[in-house]
Amino acid sequence: MNWKSGAILVLSGPSGAGKSSLLKEIINDIGDCYFSISTTTREIRNGETDGVEYHFVSEEEFKKDIKEENFLEYALVHGNYYGTSLKAVKEALNNGKLVLFDIDVQGNTLVNNRLGDITTSVFISPPTLSELKKRLVARSTDSQEVIDRRIKMAKREIQRISEYDYLLINDDLKKAAEILRIIAKAARMKIPDNVINEFVQNWEDVE
Ligand code: ADP
Ligand code: 5GP
Repeated sequence: MNWKSGAILVLSGPSGAGKSSLLKEIINDIGDCYFSISTTTREIRNGETDGVEYHFVSEEEFKKDIKEENFLEYALVHGNYYGTSLKAVKEALNNGKLVLFDIDVQGNTLVNNRLGDITTSVFISPPTLSELKKRLVARSTDSQEVIDRRIKMAKREIQRISEYDYLLINDDLKKAAEILRIIAKAARMKIPDNVINEFVQNWEDVE
């Protein structure tokens, strides 16, 4: 049976784990989906475009959105605010899409509290801390100070892997992408509680 209801796939993991790279690999193979573009107060990096990777806003604008309850979730990460806008996500879910989030561990907790019945979560990690360091340096998008902060953060985030449905070790990109494709397809099959209740109700009534 096919339910016209959306589902959520949360991707978390240290900055530099390969979340964006993996998403790029699978995005055209997982059906109708919507990548939630977060809003952030962090500085725009070289190569990034406003409205593509993030909506880049001032702290004042971000706080206004918090006040107006425009976020499904938000968190302070590495000293900057990051948040998921509610409106676009609601619309995508109503259209039966798989909504993809690249959010941190705090965001995953908040999303699970609100929409746990339709959420699947994946923690993406490089095989080792030294590999993470190598990738962050090779990416050459951050200063040494920012890299050090991200590594410190990564050591803390790793402690919370058990809060996720899956741990995906991104060693070989192609192999990790293949596993993520399977998880994404299964994530879409999650059925919201209200639809399950309705099904049970109708099922009992049929005679
Ligand atoms: P994130 O989105 O999690 O911050 P990125 O996708 O930007 O991470 O990846 C960080 C860096 O590591 C990039 O330069 C990317 O090309 C590289 N990378 C990603 N996955 C792999 C992998 N499996 N092996 C080697 N390098 C990788
Ligand atoms: P970066 O600055 O490297 O793009 O992202 C830093 C961290 O912020 C990453 O761990 C990323 O997953 C997280 N992040 C990005 N957008 C959001 C969001 O909307 N909400 C939350 N809670 N975290 C986010």
